[in-house]
Amino acid sequence: MTIEAQKSYIFQGKIDEQVPNVLKGEGVKITVEHNGVTQELIDGVTGAAVGALGWGDPDVLDMITEAAKVTSYSYPAYIGNKYSEALAKFYIDHSPEGAFASALWCGSGSESNENALKIIRQYHLEKNNVKKIKFISRKTSYHGFTIGSMSISSNPRTATFKDILLPSEQCPKMEVCYPYRNQKKNETTEEYVARLMTNLEELILKEDPETVAAVIVETLPGSSLGTSPPPPGYLPGIRKLCNKYDVIMMLDEVMCGTGRVTPNGGLNCWENFLTVEEGPDIQTVGKTLGSGYVTIAGILISPKMRNVFLEGSGRSMGAHTYSGHGFNCLVALKIQEKIQAQGLTKNIFKMGNLMGEKLKKTLEDSPVVGDVRGLGGFWSIEFVKNKDTKESFPLALDVTHRVQDQCFDNGLTVMGNQGCNDGTGDHVSIAPHFIVTEEDIDSIVTILTKSVGEIVEQLK
Ligand code: PLP
Repeated sequence: MTIEAQKSYIFQGKIDEQVPNVLKGEGVKITVEHNGVTQELIDGVTGAAVGALGWGDPDVLDMITEAAKVTSYSYPAYIGNKYSEALAKFYIDHSPEGAFASALWCGSGSESNENALKIIRQYHLEKNNVKKIKFISRKTSYHGFTIGSMSISSNPRTATFKDILLPSEQCPKMEVCYPYRNQKKNETTEEYVARLMTNLEELILKEDPETVAAVIVETLPGSSLGTSPPPPGYLPGIRKLCNKYDVIMMLDEVMCGTGRVTPNGGLNCWENFLTVEEGPDIQTVGKTLGSGYVTIAGILISPKMRNVFLEGSGRSMGAHTYSGHGFNCLVALKIQEKIQAQGLTKNIFKMGNLMGEKLKKTLEDSPVVGDVRGLGGFWSIEFVKNKDTKESFPLALDVTHRVQDQCFDNGLTVMGNQGCNDGTGDHVSIAPHFIVTEEDIDSIVTILTKSVGEIVEQLK
């Protein structure tokens, strides 16, 4: 094949498929072009839950210009920059007091999870717990597409690579927390959580606590499970087991964190479910940190972990060329300062919950909507063939992507995740910009409801 005959030069997804290209954006709306046709859409899922300030924020243009004037790049291993320091201090100061003591900035969520695994391993080595090498994570989880982050993930996409991942014995998988499908009839939430905790404790004991390094969960699981909020007692239960067996508790807040789902204007999703004493030992973040304007993600370290390093070797091993990138950190810091100054994390929590309530009402009678769930600025709709039995649609029907495409045609982006034959169902997720208004929410709800209705007709 000649180069001229190629339809796309991008090596991602279907190799020779040209996906729509975004031409411009303003606020919560984007204009895309596909096969010569332009279309305006409400960016309901902001890429993949990345956006906060919206497109074309005029202040960001100034932030970027100012940042470029004062910083570009230095190699962090021997010349630091005050902006990565300032961003770390900002995150720590805007988290509950005592939750975090240090941060490391990198370029993507996968990279942050990769680094976190290494930091956890070094933490145990610093304590001379040399046998602690196992990372327990959840069935159906998604933590990224690098080798380490895929090893702690568990879904059909990452399973494709199973032969080149960390040995499966090193990455045991625990039961997923998914009340819609897995809580038994006549089982109270308390009993369900107790069952999950018994399962986890049995797994830790079976693996041998001496070998277990960490338990890793997404606070509010995004792409794989469709924003199923942890029931009361679930995360505190994991905390207790981690304390009991000297295991690190790691939360992945790449998708749900940095203000998308916080009750009080803060930054961390876990503040909905945990006290600061119960908080994570280590946490990864990304996405809304740079609101899509700069590529930045990070790892937040608790005082407990930092102290072990300080009292041990005094060094965290490893420095990437672009760790703590000065320009990216300064732009992210200014973006976060604007988000805080304008109370936008409070806005998205309120508007998101309003959207969830409205979706529950408008989709209540739909014969294919089994569940509408989520919290704050992150919601999902699960589709079922039979609402009583919760039977999923056959994969071949690809109901998820039909709904996603129908929404697209009607002027809304949502993110589809196909049911995976792994106990999860077809669902689409919505994660609007933090600046979203009630009028925008109403448009999202109207388009989604209309699109689902049209798919129901098609399926008849
Ligand atoms: N962790 C979670 C929970 C995610 O949802 C994602 C991406 O969607 C990642 C990690 C990987 O982040 P990135 O795509 O920036 O590498």
